Amino acid sequence: MRVTGDIAELRTLIKEYKQAGKKVSFVPTMGALHRGHLSLIRLAKQHSDVVVVSIYVNPKQFAPNEDFATYPSSLEQDINFCKEEGVSLVFTPNTEVMYHQELFFSLDIRELNTHLDGASRIGYFQGIALVVNKLFNIVEPDIAVFGQKDYQQFKVIEAMVREFNHGLSLLMAPIERDHDGLALSSRNAYLSEEERAKAPMLYQALQKAKGAIEQGMKNTTPLLEELQEELRLAGFQNDYFGVYSIDRLQPVKQIEENTDYVLAIAAYLGKARLIDNIILSK
Ligand code: AMP
Repeated sequence: MRVTGDIAELRTLIKEYKQAGKKVSFVPTMGALHRGHLSLIRLAKQHSDVVVVSIYVNPKQFAPNEDFATYPSSLEQDINFCKEEGVSLVFTPNTEVMYHQELFFSLDIRELNTHLDGASRIGYFQGIALVVNKLFNIVEPDIAVFGQKDYQQFKVIEAMVREFNHGLSLLMAPIERDHDGLALSSRNAYLSEEERAKAPMLYQALQKAKGAIEQGMKNTTPLLEELQEELRLAGFQNDYFGVYSIDRLQPVKQIEENTDYVLAIAAYLGKARLIDNIILSK
């Protein structure tokens, strides 16, 4: 396995893989790797000959009040983890390598950015689109893998790939959960023991709403409000909880038959911002 933070070196290695006729897949991450990332790497492996993982905490996707400075990091462990999983190349750029001091471009994202994390985290998806756009241009993979856990991110990147002709296929890996249902996340490290015990309530709320919708509930607003109130009383600070259209991510007031939706939730618990979702398919 090779590890480099240098763009030219990375490009040379990738050129060699391609010249040897290898199919290259790419898994972008911010490090502090866990079993969720592992499932992305495994999916990438199933669909390609060579897996490239990037580890880079992108400052452009953090608002000034967010946790950029304290974001968990475990580079040495992450590199071992990639080695064990048969990754071929790990890209570990620093910010000097990734960004020029002055930027003349930014990416404007329309409808997909108006709700969910796009509404709560100003500049978040612009920062992601910027870095993923750059990473795709640097790595030029045949396939890129992202997690369903960040469903809105997947839709933003899917639109970007289509509109900017990146010429690669995207794969979405399902959400990996802990034994009690909590979606794995690098940010779970922020939870105290007491908060960690409460954290699965988020997934339980999703499950309850899913159950009610499957039983025929059409207007979910009262139930979602009630579930958010339970979360609030347990110490969560709610951000959003709603049913959204599967492609455009617009809030849905009335559930219709034979239509797919995404049920998505976000809340703070102590210092951790937790997100989770379930795809409701007909
Ligand atoms: P991050 O390092 O948090 O930026 O995540 C890197 C990639 O891993 C993204 O595509 C995430 O959606 C994905 N990911 C993070 N947590 C999970 C999880 N629990 N299950 C599946 N994918 C995940």
